[in-house]
Amino acid sequence: MSDEEIVDPSHPRYQSLMIRKKVAEAGAKGMLADSAMIAHGRGEAFDYMLGEQTTDSAMEATREVVARLVNADRPVLSLNGNAIALAGEDFLTIASQLGCPVEINIFYRTPERMGALIGHLKMLNAKLGLDVDIMGGVPDARIPGLEGPRGACQSEGIFASDVILVPLEDGDRCEALVEMGKQVLVIDLNPLSRSSRRGTVTIVDELSRVTKNMIQLIPEKPQPTDWDNNKSLQASLNHISKNLENRFE
Ligand code: ATP
Repeated sequence: MSDEEIVDPSHPRYQSLMIRKKVAEAGAKGMLADSAMIAHGRGEAFDYMLGEQTTDSAMEATREVVARLVNADRPVLSLNGNAIALAGEDFLTIASQLGCPVEINIFYRTPERMGALIGHLKMLNAKLGLDVDIMGGVPDARIPGLEGPRGACQSEGIFASDVILVPLEDGDRCEALVEMGKQVLVIDLNPLSRSSRRGTVTIVDELSRVTKNMIQLIPEKPQPTDWDNNKSLQASLNHISKNLENRFE
């Protein structure tokens, strides 16, 4: 049965339902922890309030993130289960444009989930005809300040990176990466999350919209600016509050 047969394309929130379906399917394949749908739902709630669109401030932040990645010495894309489920192909495309590795870094690390995620990315690499380095399977370094499997990373990947993209990162790990002196570039629909507030540059936008925009912007090779992340986060909150004003008048 095709996706369209299950979710009616004329449904006003078709895109949102299709994105949710991707998370559900990845869960069924063993790629996600049980909490993945809850994290996704939190994102959906904020997207609803943002009007399910890329705001001007989100587009500016996306340009800044791209600028910092194309100018980095050792960029890396850190991917968790939801990021791979929603935009695995796009992240491999971006990594190939940038000539950098991706590293799988998941909160609830089990050999089964890691195997499923690595297998999925390898399949996408082959499908796209790419040869992106997929790291994370054999961690040999630690992010200081993080206990247990959450701190595991690869010495040639996340550990050595100067600029790191962390879509949907957990606040603790974001903070620990900032403490390591890295530029931490966050994608998160919640402008109030700890990751959003701790990141060097935060894109408050839905992940799969962001990756499409990044792929378009990378060839333009934008230059980094003197970025004020708090100002950008406030602009996202202002957009939400404006969007909610006078709704029932
Ligand atoms: P923090 O620890 O940073 O304060 P949190 O505990 O709310 O945040 P998690 O549950 O670890 O965060 O991660 C989920 C985060 O990812 C949420 O902030 C949610 O808004 C965001 N999110 C979920 N799905 C998407 C998506 N598709 N695009 C962008 N952001 C998303």
